[in-house]
Amino acid sequence: MTNNVRVRFAPSPTGSPHVGNIRSALFNWLFARHSGGTFILRVEDTDQKRESATGLQDIMESLRWLGLNWDEGPDVGGPYGPYIQSQRLDLYHRYAQQLLETGHAYRCYCPPERLEALRQEQLRRKDSHVGYDRRCRFLSPAERAELEAAGAPAVVRLAVPLTGQTRFHDLIHGEIVMDNALLDDQVLLKADGFPTYHLANVVDDHLMRISHILRADEWLSSVPKHVIMYQALGWEPPLYCHLPRVLGPDRKKLSKRHGSTSVLEFRARGYLPEALFNFLALVGWSYDGQIEIMSRDELIQAFTLDKISAGAGVFDHQKLDWMNGVYIRALDPADLGERLAPFLARDLGLPEPELRRRYDLTAIAGLVRERIERLTQATEKVAFLFAGELDYDPTLLIPKKMDAPTTLAVLRRARSVVLQRGLADQEALEADLRALADELGIKVGLVFGILRVAITGQTVTPPLLPSMAILGLDTCRTRLDVAERRLAALIARTD
Ligand code: GLU
Repeated sequence: MTNNVRVRFAPSPTGSPHVGNIRSALFNWLFARHSGGTFILRVEDTDQKRESATGLQDIMESLRWLGLNWDEGPDVGGPYGPYIQSQRLDLYHRYAQQLLETGHAYRCYCPPERLEALRQEQLRRKDSHVGYDRRCRFLSPAERAELEAAGAPAVVRLAVPLTGQTRFHDLIHGEIVMDNALLDDQVLLKADGFPTYHLANVVDDHLMRISHILRADEWLSSVPKHVIMYQALGWEPPLYCHLPRVLGPDRKKLSKRHGSTSVLEFRARGYLPEALFNFLALVGWSYDGQIEIMSRDELIQAFTLDKISAGAGVFDHQKLDWMNGVYIRALDPADLGERLAPFLARDLGLPEPELRRRYDLTAIAGLVRERIERLTQATEKVAFLFAGELDYDPTLLIPKKMDAPTTLAVLRRARSVVLQRGLADQEALEADLRALADELGIKVGLVFGILRVAITGQTVTPPLLPSMAILGLDTCRTRLDVAERRLAALIARTD
């Protein structure tokens, strides 16, 4: 593979990036890294009306969070900058001028009201072609001079050849041939002096020496117009590779109604970047149709364009949850503790430094590691660690087939075992509790069950002895005392 692969992610900063968009960024990144090429971030902000104030920041944050570093871009610069289209207006003007001078473009003075009326009329007549009627393309020089002299606002339109065909090859979709008669005379430069997507995109892909265009297949229908522009400017188009679309599990276009769509929302909902990275790589690409868990390096190694599927990729949240669980279980507890810290701090209303001072995050991570699929699920699993007085119904302490006085007796004996043995040696404590169960002639599970409710207020929790070790002997003693009192009060009431 040559190392002159230059690919780009070219988002429009209109909001927080969607996972479908970031999937395009990921494929570009993987392809660049696989080929030893260059990955470029270019900001396509030519539609000033649709811009969002935090758009660019959110794009960069999403890419950084997923580890999709760029080699050239707005902040890091590079030999073909600037990388923000609104800072390149003179270039677009220069090439629009060239197209005008060579007769491949023309100035159109039709006011928006005329265009709208034309459209309505075409729709009413159910015309097969709805679009501009090319009125200004055929103005006489005198008519044109008159409009210019009157200072009529103008756009620049591409003069699409009226006959013939435009053809191009797409690495996924194959040979595509389009009748020019079906193409509109695309606006290239708007009346406000900004280029449209089409002009800016073609000029930049050429000037930035982009070798391959990997982007969503919704852009496929624009390619013939782009190819006409490349030809008119005397340039070689890049290779095209239009990516399969990203659908929800119902096979409809992925949207909000399928759940989260913004990458930063996935972060907030407790997904690991490496899991989302692996998951997105498999939406529309696959290694062998079998292997699913692949590390970043394995994906870089394996990522070739021929493995991109032609059919749509499905974004299956359940699969993502499963994969996130796999990645969580593979983390070592210290690392998982670090990743849990912001979520625990937020849920408990504690600043992170205080959380770290008060709790052993590695130990907490050890408790939840096998039990969560998302980082946000940890707090609920270990909330009993942070509670003051536990709130539970004392009948919960009483196992099925055991009465309250027997439960109280077992609890008292278990309490002495715990206080005598302490929490440092969990194996020894477990052996002592087993011995107690043997002595009392009951199953050890019952002893643990009673202790579990006394210590946690719940019947299902992470492993009990490690939880007790995190709580410490003083808190355990207090909770055992409270449980005894509650049980005794219950017995007194029912006597
Ligand atoms: N600005 C376009 C977008 O946001 C870029 C499309 C392309 O990659 O050419 O989708």
